[in-house]
Amino acid sequence: MVNGYTATSLQEALELRAKYPEVVPYAGGTDLMVEDRPGVTYLFLNKVPELKVITADDEFVRIGAGVTFTEALADELVPQLMKDAVSHIAAPAIRNAGTFGGNLGNGSAKADSVLIEFAADAKLQLVSLKGKRVVSVDQFYLGRKKIDLAADELIAEILLPKTGLDRYYYEKVGGRNALAISRVSFAGVFAEKGGKITNIAAAFGAVADTVLRFKKLEATLLGRTIDEAKSMKKDYLSAYAERMKLTRGRVSAEYRKDVCMNLLNEFLTNQGI
Ligand SMILES: Cc1cc2nc3c(=O)[nH]c(=O)nc-3n(C[C@H](O)[C@H](O)[C@H](O)COP(=O)(O)OP(=O)(O)OC[C@H]3O[C@@H](n4cnc5c(N)ncnc54)[C@H](O)[C@@H]3O)c2cc1C
Repeated sequence: MVNGYTATSLQEALELRAKYPEVVPYAGGTDLMVEDRPGVTYLFLNKVPELKVITADDEFVRIGAGVTFTEALADELVPQLMKDAVSHIAAPAIRNAGTFGGNLGNGSAKADSVLIEFAADAKLQLVSLKGKRVVSVDQFYLGRKKIDLAADELIAEILLPKTGLDRYYYEKVGGRNALAISRVSFAGVFAEKGGKITNIAAAFGAVADTVLRFKKLEATLLGRTIDEAKSMKKDYLSAYAERMKLTRGRVSAEYRKDVCMNLLNEFLTNQGI
């Protein structure tokens, strides 16, 4: 038997979270149901309406933590890059139940929607009875399965920038298609203005303890023309190869690094570099 409290509003969920810090938030349960945790008490969030909405303001598309992947795929506010990644998650049954908050809640470098949040410089809104705080996703991920979430907090929203995500490159190289957790995943975002590169972000998933981005390397191409970037490409790729220290997964670290480098190369080539 599964023990727990069911909250029917965000206020009630936060009150329960504050009163019983040991309860484990439970959204779709697709990760939690495969864990064996006898005696655990859950806080069921699937009836909290405030967590299940997608809205937009001037700056951000705001995806509620309790929104499922299937719901996001059907919503026109959600950027295509996020839809591409989410459509690669497992099989329909998992996408119907699995949520954005749950994908973040494990602190996993394999989480497909989180990869896009890293590439997009997304922010997260965390809430407790004490108030709200906004953190960037790379600050939220503290290392292997560690996240910056206090015992009385919940993830409330994912804030994706509304603009700048149209030019992208996304690939997930998995082992067993529909039910595969990523072996290597890659998301690149690119923007140019007046012939100069204004944004370049390359995020690598499932290859280390956390999602990897090398912001200092990215920055070396900012403000350059495509031709200048092209002339720097060889050195740029070598610098990445040197910096990239990958862990072994079900396949070797060397194989994963080769795949990462090929994906990065392909991303640059697609942008004319
Ligand atoms: C067969 C199978 C295949 C899968 N394939 C993929 C895949 O291809 N790609 C992928 O990324 N994932 C995959 N997963 C993992 C899983 O489906 C996702 O991580 C999903 O997003 C989890 O969401 P959930 O709502 O089910 O989370 P839950 O299982 O309910 O919770 C997961 C974690 O998040 C915490 N949590 C949930 N909501 C909140 C909140 N609002 N605030 C704070 N903490 C919260 C929970 O306490 C728990 O620690 C797969 C899982 C299975 C079983």
